[in-house]
Amino acid sequence: MTAETSRAMVLHQPGTPLRLDEVRALSPSPDQVLLRVHACGICRTDLHIVDGELTEPKLPLIPGHMIVGEVVEAGSSVLQLRVGDRVGVPWLGWTDGDCKYCRSGRENLCDRALFTGYQIDGGYADFAVADHRYCLPIPEGYHDLQAAPLLCAGLIGYRCLRMAGDAPRLGYYGFGSAAHVLIQVAKHRGQRIYAFTRPGDKAAQSFAAELGADWVGDSDTAPPELLDAAIIFAPAGELVPAALRAVGKGGTVVCGGIHMSDIPSFPYSILWGERSVRSVANLTRADGEEFLRLAPAIPIHAQVHVYQLEQANEALDDVRKGRLRGSAVLSMV
Ligand SMILES: [Zn+2]
Ligand SMILES: [Zn+2]
Repeated sequence: MTAETSRAMVLHQPGTPLRLDEVRALSPSPDQVLLRVHACGICRTDLHIVDGELTEPKLPLIPGHMIVGEVVEAGSSVLQLRVGDRVGVPWLGWTDGDCKYCRSGRENLCDRALFTGYQIDGGYADFAVADHRYCLPIPEGYHDLQAAPLLCAGLIGYRCLRMAGDAPRLGYYGFGSAAHVLIQVAKHRGQRIYAFTRPGDKAAQSFAAELGADWVGDSDTAPPELLDAAIIFAPAGELVPAALRAVGKGGTVVCGGIHMSDIPSFPYSILWGERSVRSVANLTRADGEEFLRLAPAIPIHAQVHVYQLEQANEALDDVRKGRLRGSAVLSMV
């Protein structure tokens, strides 16, 4: 196969399935690298884009922002990467470097940021181009399929974990791809994990218990003791008041998703006591580098369900229905 005759799964219209298309040859601009995609993780955000809940995609669009690929051609300004290097391409695909957020170490909030698999074509494809300045190093020894889930589920989850602060007792609401990676980080740091799932979802609860959760239960029940912080991975607004009720004074509730259903109103008393609710938006390159250095030290092992490129719709549907334990990854090699 060559870059002249490559395949991609393409979104032509939100709310319709992706279509397997032959796409034209890609050629990197001076700041880009052309990658032969080895694997691409599937994120819940991809579902929000395909389903039309995130409303500003380029169209047609190749989704996918957890790309592991090998450099096959480098643009003329690329000095740091060489043909044959293996890199990861995350959600943050480009920033202006110039707005007040970029100039204060908060490029994740850049006013003009472009995101991979949303405003830039992503990795549900045999080949992709990416700005080399936003590519991340893949830890030595990590298999492509193991590395892919680290690139969003892992590193945006890691940013959530950092925002949750020093929390000996930490709640996770929703136990999917991100939580199953992040429980390994939290256990490594000695935190106690309280895993909340959809009421009655015994499969997710036993998965969390197998991975070392100290307590598992339904999201509409109270934990046995008040928590120091909670991270909400599921896109369900009703979990915000539930999590506020589960954290003690000074506790933080971190919303980790890019999209969430409306949050129902709640009494001020559950926010009182210096509890706080915050969102985590995107990632910085520094988050990515820090997390990818940490991953092999733990070491993080993702449970991966592998799909072929042309099975992307099926994989998205499995994520939508919560049918899998761990992470879904497309394999292109
Ligand atoms: Zn900026
Ligand atoms: Zn993602």
